Amino acid sequence: MKTHNFSAGPSILPDFTIKNSAEAVLNFAGTGLSLLEVSHRDKEFIAVMNEALLLFKELLDVPEGYEVIFVGGGASLQFCMAPYNFLKTKAAYLNTGAWAAKAIKEAKGFGEVVEVASSKEAIYNYIPKNYTVPSDADYFHITTNNTIYGTEIRTDLDVNIPLIADMSSDIFSRPVDISKYDLIYGGAQKNLAPAGVTFAIVKKDALGKMDRHIPTMLDYRTHIDNESMFNTPPVFAIYAALQTLKWLKEKGGVAAMEKLNIEKAAVLYDAIDNSKFFKGTVIDPADRSIMNICFVMNDEYKELEKDFYTYAVSQGMSGIKGHRSVGGFRASVYNAMPKSSIEALVAAMKEFEAKH
Ligand SMILES: *Cc1c(COP(=O)(O)O)cnc(C)c1O
Repeated sequence: MKTHNFSAGPSILPDFTIKNSAEAVLNFAGTGLSLLEVSHRDKEFIAVMNEALLLFKELLDVPEGYEVIFVGGGASLQFCMAPYNFLKTKAAYLNTGAWAAKAIKEAKGFGEVVEVASSKEAIYNYIPKNYTVPSDADYFHITTNNTIYGTEIRTDLDVNIPLIADMSSDIFSRPVDISKYDLIYGGAQKNLAPAGVTFAIVKKDALGKMDRHIPTMLDYRTHIDNESMFNTPPVFAIYAALQTLKWLKEKGGVAAMEKLNIEKAAVLYDAIDNSKFFKGTVIDPADRSIMNICFVMNDEYKELEKDFYTYAVSQGMSGIKGHRSVGGFRASVYNAMPKSSIEALVAAMKEFEAKH
C-alpha cells in the first residue's frame, strides 16, 4: 500500500528530488565521491549553488535589484535577522498565527512593535482585514501561509511602507510579485527541500540603513556579497533544492503549480464541505490555504475523531493529525503532493462515513 505523506513539515518532496539526492549521496556529479564528503568550494558544488540560485530567481521572476541567498538557522532565525537589518525604531506586524507571534516576539527586542490586527481570539481561523498599517513604521511583516491553522494570504498586499513576508510554507505555490516586498524568507522544508536551508529574497537598496552593528552572520550583505558561501552552506539541502527547482520548471513553473494547487485543494475542501461528519476550521473560502487544509469532526460526531484517525492511518494516510492547538486533522498538500493522494484521503473519509 502506498503511504500518502500529508506531513506539515518537513514534508513531501518530489520523487525526482529524493531519487537524485540519494544518487548524489552515493556518487556526486561523477566525482566518485559522496555529496556528503566533498568541499563546498569544489567546482562541482559551486556549479550546484549557482544553478540553484539562478533557477530560484528565474522561477519566481525575481527582478533586478534583488538577491536570493541560502543560509542556515531556519525561518526562526529570520524572525530576528529581519528586524536586525530592517527595524530602526518601529515595525508593524499582522498576527495570524503562532509563527507570526514568534516573529513579533523577536522584533520586540529591536524597537517598538505595533500589532496591527490579530485573529488569535478565534484560534487564528481567519485573516484579519480592514486594519491600518502605521505609515511611519519601518516595515509591515506578514506570514503569507499559516501552516498550523490553514489560512493564507494569496495576494500580494499593497502597503505604503516596505513589506516583509514569511513565506516558509507557500513559496513556489503561486507567482509572487516580488517587487512589492523588501524581504521574503522561509525555511525550505515545507515546499522546496529537506530541512537545513533557509532562503531569503532581499531588495539590495533596502539594506545598509541601520546605525546598529549587525553581527557578520546576521547581516544579509554578508551572504549576498559571498554568494551564500561566506561559511559552509548546507550542501545536501541545497542540492535537493536544486532538484525540486528543476522539477518545478519541468512542471511549468509556479503559474502551472498554482493552477494545480487550487484544483487539488478544491477536491478536499469540497469533500469536507459536503460531508456530514467533517467541517473545515477556516470558514471564509477566501482565507483558506491551498497548502494546509484543516478540518475537524462536527460536534455531534466528535467522539469518532480517534476512530477516523486510526482508519485513515490504516488506509495509508500519514501526518494528518491536526496541530495540538487546533485539534482534528490537517492535510498538508504542498506542490509535490499528487492529486491521487488527496483523492485517496477523500475516499477514506467517504468510506468511514458509510461505515458509521
Ligand atoms: C515551519 C514554519 C516556520 C519555522 O521554520 P523553521 O525553519 O523551523 O525555523 C516559520 N514560519 C512558518 C510559516 C512555518 O510554516
